[in-house]
Amino acid sequence: MPDNDLNLLDASVVPEHAHDVKEEARAFADDHIAPVAGDYFDSGDYPWEVLTAGQEAGLVAADIPAEYGGRGLDLTEMLALAEEFYRADAGIGLTLMLASFGTELLDTYGSEAQKEEYLPPVANGEKLSGLAVSEPETGSDLAGMTTAAEKVEGGYEITGEKYWVGNGVEADWLTVYAKTGDSDDRYGNYSLFIVETDRDGYEAEHIPEKMGMRASKQAHIVFDDCFVPEENLIGAEGGGFYALADFFNHGRVVVGGHGLGLAAAAIEEAWGFVHGRNAFGRNVSEFQAVQHDIADMRTEFEAARSLNWRAAEKVEAGDDAGLWAAMAKMKSTETAVDCAERGMQLHGGRSILTENRIARVYRDVRIPVIYEGASEIQRNLIYRQS
Ligand SMILES: Cc1cc2nc3c(=O)[nH]c(=O)nc-3n(C[C@H](O)[C@H](O)[C@H](O)COP(=O)(O)OP(=O)(O)OC[C@H]3O[C@@H](n4cnc5c(N)ncnc54)[C@H](O)[C@@H]3O)c2cc1C
Repeated sequence: MPDNDLNLLDASVVPEHAHDVKEEARAFADDHIAPVAGDYFDSGDYPWEVLTAGQEAGLVAADIPAEYGGRGLDLTEMLALAEEFYRADAGIGLTLMLASFGTELLDTYGSEAQKEEYLPPVANGEKLSGLAVSEPETGSDLAGMTTAAEKVEGGYEITGEKYWVGNGVEADWLTVYAKTGDSDDRYGNYSLFIVETDRDGYEAEHIPEKMGMRASKQAHIVFDDCFVPEENLIGAEGGGFYALADFFNHGRVVVGGHGLGLAAAAIEEAWGFVHGRNAFGRNVSEFQAVQHDIADMRTEFEAARSLNWRAAEKVEAGDDAGLWAAMAKMKSTETAVDCAERGMQLHGGRSILTENRIARVYRDVRIPVIYEGASEIQRNLIYRQS
């Protein structure tokens, strides 16, 4: 009889220096996320109390460098954290991870004055940030976005719409991706701006209820001649597309961790169910077809996890980062879809009872195969960079 404690997210593939953070994240997820995950999924409320607890525990905005009040966690530490949070619940996990979304761009490309003003309040939990890239008409085509920032005296006026923006209602400021040029080089036409959400001309409302990750909130934003001063431009005008492409290499490794956490949850649920259920006079786990399903899930999970952790090393070393990030993101998030689908089948009719964790996981896994670049975009990137 195989071991009942699967320990799928074991530390053996995690670099030594990330073990402590991983343990902290596991304990936090067990104490603060898992117990309330079902309730938040049902209500669709924003999990303020879990967010506050995460901020107090130093597990939110933890990648902001220590000199600006954060913990300066590196990519592998953030990946360890993502796996653990998402295993407990993807909706709450997303809210915790997006509380500082976009600050990485400011940290890499922003001026010293911008960093000193905007990073510490996010690091210490006083403020929330977000990243506004996607638009109602496209999220995939980064060089096809139409929200424009027109140069005016003393700054820029932003006009257009953004969609799907995490914390667009809750955040205090966003990093906004907007068009500042119209040259033939379509990749050189975009820039990044800090936009405080209390500015005139900024309106945001929650998008309609979602079927998955219900404890996270996204917004539809309308910018109507929203003025931002020149000092709010991040980096050089025209450098937004390339900055974002580089940022996504890091983000996609972490989103791979979203998939791994969800896949682990699906396998755990399937394992528990088949060992507790009888049919035809025996335990369901004794059927070879069932065992093969579990064997496939486990194998795909381990393959994805090895790839993802290898990609983390590659991206940190700047070694073919775009290729490895895309492979990791695609493989890990698609493995989560596959494991959830098989996990549902193994639960029989009970799979569709919304009170069961497998039903929540099944709905959540649909999302990481889309955000930070749909799988098709990852395949395009993998082919082009091979
Ligand atoms: C829960 C959630 C949270 C999100 N959070 C944020 C956020 O905080 N900030 C933000 O800016 N965005 C966010 N997004 C948006 C997300 O990044 C986009 O949904 C994603 O990039 C896809 O864009 P789209 O939905 O507009 O799909 P589209 O770009 O319209 O694409 C639709 C489909 O067409 C196909 N397709 C498109 N282009 C190609 C191509 N070149 N080759 C092959 N097939 C293609 C793919 O199947 C794709 O899924 C979030 C989305 C979700 C669901």
